Amino acid sequence: MDLKLFNTASRSIESLVIDLKKTLKIYGCGPTVYGAAHIGNFRTYVVQDTVLRLLQLLKLPYCYVRNITDVDDKTIRNSIAQGKTLSEYTQYWTEIFHRDCHRLGLLSPTIEPRATETIAAQQELIQTLLQKGHAYVRKCSVYFRIASFPSYGKLSRVHARMLQTQGVNSTGKSNDADEYDREQIADFVLWKAYKQTDGHIAWESPWGKGRPGWHLECSTMAHLYLGQTVDLHIGGVDLCFPHHENEIAQSEAAYGAPFVRHWMHIAHLQVEGQKMSKSLGNLFTLDDLQTKGYDAATVRYALLAGHYRQPLNFSFDLLRAAQCALQKIHAYTHQLLQTVSVPEEAFCALISRAILPAKCVFLSDFFEALLEDVNTPKALGCLFSFLHKHPSPPSEPTSFLNEWAAALYALGISLEGHKKEPIKIPHEVQQLAQQRWEAKQARDFSKADQLRQILQQKGWEVFDQKEDFYLKPTSQTFNQSLR
Ligand code: AMP
Ligand code: ZN
Repeated sequence: MDLKLFNTASRSIESLVIDLKKTLKIYGCGPTVYGAAHIGNFRTYVVQDTVLRLLQLLKLPYCYVRNITDVDDKTIRNSIAQGKTLSEYTQYWTEIFHRDCHRLGLLSPTIEPRATETIAAQQELIQTLLQKGHAYVRKCSVYFRIASFPSYGKLSRVHARMLQTQGVNSTGKSNDADEYDREQIADFVLWKAYKQTDGHIAWESPWGKGRPGWHLECSTMAHLYLGQTVDLHIGGVDLCFPHHENEIAQSEAAYGAPFVRHWMHIAHLQVEGQKMSKSLGNLFTLDDLQTKGYDAATVRYALLAGHYRQPLNFSFDLLRAAQCALQKIHAYTHQLLQTVSVPEEAFCALISRAILPAKCVFLSDFFEALLEDVNTPKALGCLFSFLHKHPSPPSEPTSFLNEWAAALYALGISLEGHKKEPIKIPHEVQQLAQQRWEAKQARDFSKADQLRQILQQKGWEVFDQKEDFYLKPTSQTFNQSLR
């Protein structure tokens, strides 16, 4: 079995792993820690997490580096405004980020370097670029010379000539008004000369006091921890240009080797057609949603409801649908464990060490959808159509249990912390079901069928046992609300 992903560089779906024995080197652009990450940011991290989980299920080793951007205009401005040191300020928001990652069940990165820990290596990279003629110094700042790197623009397919003639500038986050002294408008900053507004935040360098540019951090950290060529580089779609384009230019110009084999970009979480972002003020954090009654597990599930290459529209309907789907998955799991007499703790252990069986019998279409470019909506559709067809667990419970554990692992659904109380059945539904049962006992089958239909319309399926019956919410209600 193989994991295939769309590669932004080739614009096609390709196998990610080319050598089963080698550890896969993965780099993900991490958060800028100047506030709580919003659930748009977390869409990107949840998708990354799904990729890692699939690799684990396939028993493929990886090293995943995700950085923390702990110095930029915003972190500097805010820390000064709050009278804190930069590290006090960013430490606080880094801890909030870690807490939120934990709530979402995200696997920890193998290495999580902070930009400020690697300043010396960043300066070395600048020196190499200067020596090779790919960079120049202007008024104590250093810039990358785009004209010296002819393949600039190959990832985003933005051409250097267009950048120059149309005045599109590629400084991205570091687009300051005082950066006017470049050879060409598109050249981007590698080292920013100190300004008064930076307060005490500056590092000594051969070019004068200052701080590194944002793009430089990622090239440096990827090189430091993963070497010259990264197998998979992930980030939100907004980072493709200029951030990733600039990373490629810096790394390939300095080291002369291909920087990244496979690029993965995650489309935005939107609110009414616009990107969820701090600047638009249309964001939700996990805390915001928690106070409205939606826990992190529900948010995680909702973020997987759309394919990662399509924008996903955030709505409370989406969250309600996710809540309902998760309830069904939990109810099914508890019923399964009862049927096979497996204690919950034992099953949790099975989930945590789940691997994908060589041949899946029950949920093969679910896993195929995930392994084909992480098609989570298709996979969830397969899962629910399976539950719909098999309201009771299948007759070979042991192998099914393994597949079910692997499916929950892939989706990051944990049983721990989940409320074990049974799903609340509305009183009216309970009464209708009781009337149907009595009609059936009295052999009034047409009335019993009529009542079953009414229950179905209300979103409930009834299952008869020898002595009584039980009710389950229908998966159709969920599927319809997602469409
Ligand atoms: P930042 O902290 O702004 O550097 O962003 C961290 C990550 O979140 C980056 O990979 C961004 O591309 C990604 N991101 C930001 N906003 C959204 C959004 N609305 N939907 C999905 N990803 C986003
Ligand atoms: Zn980056």
